[in-house]
Amino acid sequence: MLVRFPPSPGEWQEKHLKAGIEDWELAHGVVLQGERPGIAKALPVTMYPSPFSRSGLSLGLEIQTLYNALYHSVINDSNWVIEQLRGTAKYDQFTRNLIEIFEKSLPKRTQKLTGGIFRSDYLVHELSASKESRQIKQVEFNTVSVSFGGLSTKVTELHRFLCENGLNYVHGDVNVSPSLQEIASGLAAMHNAYLKTSNDSQPPLILFVVQPDETNVIDQKLIEYELLEKHEILGRRVTFEQISRQVVLDEHNRLVYLPRGQVVSVVYYRAGYSPADYPSEMEWETRLLLESSHAIQCPSVLTQLAGSKKIQELLTHPDIIRQFVDNEKAEQLEKTFVKMWPLDDSELGLEGQLLAISEPEGFVLKPQREGGGNNVYREKIVPFLKNMPKHEWSAYTLMELIQTPKVSNKIVRDGELISGNVVNELGVFGTVLWDLESGEELMNTQAGWLLRTKLQSSDEGGVAAGYGCIDAILLPENTHASHEPSRRTTSDSLANLEI
Ligand code: ADP
Ligand code: MG
Repeated sequence: MLVRFPPSPGEWQEKHLKAGIEDWELAHGVVLQGERPGIAKALPVTMYPSPFSRSGLSLGLEIQTLYNALYHSVINDSNWVIEQLRGTAKYDQFTRNLIEIFEKSLPKRTQKLTGGIFRSDYLVHELSASKESRQIKQVEFNTVSVSFGGLSTKVTELHRFLCENGLNYVHGDVNVSPSLQEIASGLAAMHNAYLKTSNDSQPPLILFVVQPDETNVIDQKLIEYELLEKHEILGRRVTFEQISRQVVLDEHNRLVYLPRGQVVSVVYYRAGYSPADYPSEMEWETRLLLESSHAIQCPSVLTQLAGSKKIQELLTHPDIIRQFVDNEKAEQLEKTFVKMWPLDDSELGLEGQLLAISEPEGFVLKPQREGGGNNVYREKIVPFLKNMPKHEWSAYTLMELIQTPKVSNKIVRDGELISGNVVNELGVFGTVLWDLESGEELMNTQAGWLLRTKLQSSDEGGVAAGYGCIDAILLPENTHASHEPSRRTTSDSLANLEI
């Protein structure tokens, strides 16, 4: 039996469902901070959980530990990472500053352990108009400040509740993402590993470095509560500015949180990925202080740098990835790659330049930035490049566009119901802990998933729709979604909500 998706139960029923979703969200803290602290608004979510290929999800989940291991191998070769980034750093002040932090902190560091909470993001690529041709392809590998691990668990719970109680007119299974619990367990493992390297009189705490104007506060608080309730570990959310006043290094290079004199075990960054996070010299000095301390960095500035688009591009080249993992693993990982090019004056770079100029409609151009809203799509690429000196092109990476299938859903956002064609982006979380001295991998875990759904934006008139939201995966036997390849650009619509 083919069941239509999304269902159209009628106006009254949908109004009722929308109100039910918003109430459940408020009742369960599935919220963003409103215009000021103490004011909450329901997190934008889909009305219905989205059908998503079971095999695509399985591949994403399975391959996460391979991705974690690949980046481990890359980071073990810190000279290679830094050398590869020198070209882009030449024309990119932010990358240059991060490299400087790495180099200045290196002689001061006493901590051999380093951690990471990663998220590998994928879109579904459709080679032809048949469902069998669908594969997940990696958009990017995030190594710093990955968000929505906490709220993904809650939104999947919401959609399971609606399905199980027959409240949303769809048939199928919704699995709950364990990302909230897994991310907290990952941080707890880092904390416990730290305890073995120190003997502090008071229990240490985990510092969450956050943005002063963060709206995605509850996503972070959920992790903080989970750490305290399940692992008896205290977390403190602080900005760079607060750290500069309230945190110092003691004579053993330990990081001390002054208000209560506790030592910091882990520095967990939910900020620091964008130039806007460093408006003055103070923020850079603070990052250097943290990075130079004995606290485990999650992630270190080196791990953050390894997450750049430039390194992702290099790893798509068959000979380069095989410097880091064996052929069998490389082949597995390569299933999720689309082609990427540099735009420098290397042989590949010249090929990339030619493609960008002569057939831009198949590509997206990316600077070395995180957090959304930075990419240049299709026909906008040519005027963008022509507007800058050619030698500066080397700061950019060119990527083949992933052709997503046409699917539709409805989005509940800011009290409104918005219908349309959407793009589903799967994110798979991973947690790692590495010993940089011995090269040992102490933790390598797949840590749950996230589905973000965005309305396809309209290129015409330059109006980016900006209707991103959090979704859940519907795993039905017999739900039918139409599958015509899309020709529209995906919007960076969660741009204001971290990475
Ligand atoms: P950021 O680090 O700013 O999040 P991403 O590489 O994730 O940058 O790109 C932002 C968004 O652009 C993605 O969420 C996706 O919707 C879209 N996008 C990025 N790369 C591609 C691609 N190769 N094909 C299609 N859409 C893409
Ligand atoms: Mg992204």
